[in-house]
Amino acid sequence: MLIHGDFEPQQLYYSLHELVRLAFPGCQIIKEKGGHHATSIQIKMEAREESTVIRGAVFSPEGNTVLKQEYQFRSQGTNPSNEARWYARRFTYQLLCQHMDRNINAYGLLTGMRPVKLVHRLMDFGFQEKEIANILQDDYLLQESKTALLLEVAQNNRPFLLTPEKAKKMVSIYIGIPFCPSRCYYCSFPGMLLKDYDSEIKSFLQALYTEMNQIADCLQQQDISIQSIYIGGGTPTVLSAKDLEEMMDLLNYRYITHRTQEITVEAGRPDTLNPDKLKILKQAGVNRICVNPQSMNDSTLKLIGRNHDQKGVVRSIEWVREAGIKQINMDLIVGLPGETISENMSTADKILELGPENVTVHTLSLKRGSKMAAVEDKDEIDDRVSEVQKGVEFFASQLRQAGYLPYYMYRQKYMKAGMENTGYSLPGQECLYNIQMMEERQTIIGMGGGAASKFINTSDWKLNSSYNPKDPASYCESIEKLIKRKVDKLWALN
Ligand code: SF4
Repeated sequence: MLIHGDFEPQQLYYSLHELVRLAFPGCQIIKEKGGHHATSIQIKMEAREESTVIRGAVFSPEGNTVLKQEYQFRSQGTNPSNEARWYARRFTYQLLCQHMDRNINAYGLLTGMRPVKLVHRLMDFGFQEKEIANILQDDYLLQESKTALLLEVAQNNRPFLLTPEKAKKMVSIYIGIPFCPSRCYYCSFPGMLLKDYDSEIKSFLQALYTEMNQIADCLQQQDISIQSIYIGGGTPTVLSAKDLEEMMDLLNYRYITHRTQEITVEAGRPDTLNPDKLKILKQAGVNRICVNPQSMNDSTLKLIGRNHDQKGVVRSIEWVREAGIKQINMDLIVGLPGETISENMSTADKILELGPENVTVHTLSLKRGSKMAAVEDKDEIDDRVSEVQKGVEFFASQLRQAGYLPYYMYRQKYMKAGMENTGYSLPGQECLYNIQMMEERQTIIGMGGGAASKFINTSDWKLNSSYNPKDPASYCESIEKLIKRKVDKLWALN
């Protein structure tokens, strides 16, 4: 769908385009109307001597005025451009809600990935819970249920946030293994489909070990220790038992100390796991494993391109328990094709029976690049908003009844029903890495394919990011440059 966006000044586009996309999911915003048959959204802001005027209108594709609004405000703060941006967003949000005759975003003006960060910032300023709730609902226009979720998540994960002094001397590590045994239909991660193990994996591991050794040197020189390690992907357990052992040996030799509290390995695909690999991981100190079924319905698993069935998930969980690894996380997705509340119910029963310490409930997010997004674009499959909402709420209530609490959450673009992804944990079993990564109060050093690094300045919690290429060949080619960039950023921090 085309939407004509007419913004003045033109920079308003950057503040407003996400709101237009919330009202018209999947739309393309065009600047020049030309001969296009498109609805027009017009927002014009004009600063006058005494006040600023914002005028907004919606025009039908035929050019008729559907809605017209006007608002005036006087600048009061010390940062007039931020203030003007906030008024423009609020005005546009309300105009679009009125035009659509519905609330276009349960999170109101909060369109970013990490809404809990705002709650932590307000807590740092000394605001009490009630005051924060008022700010979220009155200023940012959040729904009451989302306000309550953000506050609860912040309360649950705040005890794990580091002080600036500790965050200066303690980082977490991410290792990305960008290979998978097959491609899930909803996945847009352009990792490698593993075809020829020897030729593809060996050169990648060589580059990874170079990166791990040189970053370890830099951390040692600065006396920085490691709080948590997360080995993700792709699917790290595609590595053979021998390669997994070699990588874990290097991690133990260069990174893991008595200060390292948590080591997670994603064994996302049960079809890549076996008791030998789990024994190696346990011996290497791994204390958290993610076995991610996404759904416990075999017909759905087949439809979304997974190479395993629900029996494979149950068997993997038994192996993890037998290996003596204490924490298990299971990822689920609400909104998978063909799934309704009855499939969600059956998945919830089967998961709760397995008793994982953590459960992460995702809302399907169809990113461009996934096979499923291409199909949806073509066939315009109904996005089943209310079914997805019901599913997310159902999992939340089942998990709460079973004693799990939400401890981290984030949002993504193109999420079904504008919902969120929420991590639940039994009390005392929270994943440290997920908290630090989401709340951005600790430097995370990402190594390997597709790994993101975040360098946090502990004086103001501002961050500077850098990304490794997702494609293994580009990663190997640019390894020296990638290491140098990270080493420079680490030295600049301390
Ligand atoms: S296992 Fe994960 S990374 Fe691999 S294809 Fe599936 S969703 Fe993508």
